[in-house]
Amino acid sequence: MQLKINKKLYERGRKRHKVSLKDLQNITDAFLNEVKSYSIKKPYILYGITQNPDTKDYIMVLDDEYCGKCGERYTNVYIKWCKSCQIDNLKSNIVSGNEKIDNLIQEMQLKINGYNDLVFEWIPYNQFNDIEKKSKYSFTAAIWKDGPLKYNRDKKLYERGERSHRNVSLKHLQNNTDAFLNEVKSYSIKKSYILYGITQNPDTKDYIMVFKDEYCEKCGEKYADISCKWCKPCQIDNLKINFSNWTSGNEKIDDLIQEMQLEINKWNDIVFEWIPYNQFDYIKEIDKNGCSTVYSAIWKEGPLKYDENEKIYKRSQCFKVALKYSHNSQ
Ligand SMILES: [Zn+2]
Ligand SMILES: [Zn+2]
Repeated sequence: MQLKINKKLYERGRKRHKVSLKDLQNITDAFLNEVKSYSIKKPYILYGITQNPDTKDYIMVLDDEYCGKCGERYTNVYIKWCKSCQIDNLKSNIVSGNEKIDNLIQEMQLKINGYNDLVFEWIPYNQFNDIEKKSKYSFTAAIWKDGPLKYNRDKKLYERGERSHRNVSLKHLQNNTDAFLNEVKSYSIKKSYILYGITQNPDTKDYIMVFKDEYCEKCGEKYADISCKWCKPCQIDNLKINFSNWTSGNEKIDDLIQEMQLEINKWNDIVFEWIPYNQFDYIKEIDKNGCSTVYSAIWKEGPLKYDENEKIYKRSQCFKVALKYSHNSQ
């Protein structure tokens, strides 16, 4: 219970109040000095003193702001997160088998400053499922079985378990410790990259960086749209490569279509294109006036739509459109 000022008199709050008791020897002078020293330390909240009737030990009654393990005040009192104890706990998982790499991981973990900071770690290679078979030195997608660590404030420990964060991008590097360490360091200071940790392929001995799946596996740039995995430079490249696969037969029109395609900016922007007339079925006149005639039609293959799983544009179904014929354009 805590004393509370309430109109001219002190009352105790109704809620139970959790406190830390600090046991001291049964020596009055020493105890008094200790109490005085605590009472001027600002971060400590000292509620009062008591005495154990059996042992006669004097006891200070402090707010429960202290780590049960080391006795230091929590780095984050509200969350009950003790930086030194938590970093100490994490040490046991650093088992790369290479001293330089272990040191790097430890160095990165020491930079943790808050309970929700990312914990950089050594991740055993068998934690990865569905590793895409792609070129050796670029990003490949994979599923991290247990996912990254997250602090559980009730249990006061780090746990794994958020499904949404299990998609990762792996970046393979040669089996060369120093080159790898430099690369990891260079990535760790780039704000835009979320680097969960490192691992090693036990067969090839290649070292691998484990990133949050936010990077195009083709060019390594961050996706313009992360949820849809749409990379603007790569998609524009694809459209350019495809320029030779279609033509209207008229250079000016081809130029206009190309120009409009290169203006694409989002995954769901329309891909403006040349559509061969034989793509249309069921052409029916629906409106006619002095300068134009409008027909309804079915576009057999339909427009391009971005497929986030295959990361390409695809056509899915027939699609009803209106065709507008301008009498003045001829
Ligand atoms: Zn502690
Ligand atoms: Zn890309």
